Amino acid sequence: MVLNIITEDFENFYDIQDDLGSGQFAVVKRVRELNTGHEFAAKFVRKKKCVAGRRGLKREEILREADILSELAPHRNIITLHDIFENKHEIILVLELVGGGELFHYIAEKDTLSEEEAAKFILQILEGVHHMHEKNIVHLDLKPENVMLLEKNKTQIKIIDFGISRKLQPNEPTKETFGTPEFVAPEVIAFEPVTLATDMWSIGVITYILLSGASPFLGNTNQETFNNITQVDYRFDEEFFANTSDLAKDFIQQLFVKNPRQRATVVDCLNHPWIKPRRRKDEEERRNAQINMPSFKSFIARRRWKVQMHCESRTLRTVTTKKFDKDGNVKSAKVSERKGKTAIYEGQYSETDESDNDIE
Ligand code: ATP
Repeated sequence: MVLNIITEDFENFYDIQDDLGSGQFAVVKRVRELNTGHEFAAKFVRKKKCVAGRRGLKREEILREADILSELAPHRNIITLHDIFENKHEIILVLELVGGGELFHYIAEKDTLSEEEAAKFILQILEGVHHMHEKNIVHLDLKPENVMLLEKNKTQIKIIDFGISRKLQPNEPTKETFGTPEFVAPEVIAFEPVTLATDMWSIGVITYILLSGASPFLGNTNQETFNNITQVDYRFDEEFFANTSDLAKDFIQQLFVKNPRQRATVVDCLNHPWIKPRRRKDEEERRNAQINMPSFKSFIARRRWKVQMHCESRTLRTVTTKKFDKDGNVKSAKVSERKGKTAIYEGQYSETDESDNDIE
């Protein structure tokens, strides 16, 4: 897809307003388009200065996000790209403004939420993901922070942050990506190729958290988390799942399947009776079950605290050093961000203090 990149001064077209958020290499600000008065969210992404530079992203990486967004537009559950600017230091993606905050924060304000309502939110995520998967695009960083509401107190979901998304190419395995430890699928940890099924695992994690307020694989360290994922070690503890329907548990079980080929696809999920009940019994089961709101609220409170303490779980983006065996499989690899603390050696994960250990 040919992108129209504007190289004129951004401020000739937009008035820059308050900060909306930030990521590892990006700052997102509210902006107002001068000739229409419409508001947008501008994502200012820093470009890497030189090949060996550690700050910023390669130009191609930033433009890949833009390319994917333009291929996906328009869809009611996916953020829309409006404009692209480039200057010496950064690329600016002008995105549709999503003003309703994170879905999970909105839910945490409520007193109760039935599974019927919860399933309708998951349905919207599935519809967005279905649109991506039809185009062979895999998001790879689906997590609660990337599911937002278009407007305050309205229920239309928008999926954001396509920063590590990929368009899968036939006969060309995609391996060099990561994601956020709590949400990644076993094949990502094993450095096997990612597929559309990789997103489905993360939808299982999101649903599990939404229903229970507990995180299925989260350990005390990234290494523990990765081990739990690799062993598919999760339970539906009564403490968290006493009011959860069997239908909802079945939906999650179909997603926590180690073999990506046997995992439920997005179409399977859209047809699952928890999402699309056909019998009155299923409809009633869903209507009568409730999400575990006290536990969900404390999950959100813990997350907010972690964000304030700057120790929230971040997207890991770069596979930096890898060794291959004679069949081309990864024998050992190290995953790190600029201040990353995660390393993988011989398929085993270990925590490391190295803060600038990436070779680019
Ligand atoms: P990460 O390093 O976590 O992958 P990132 O650098 O790719 O992040 P985004 O996740 O796209 O950046 O954006 C950072 C934050 O900015 C988001 O968590 C969100 O709060 C806010 N944000 C992003 N896009 C929008 C938007 N379109 N409208 C409103 N806020 C947005």
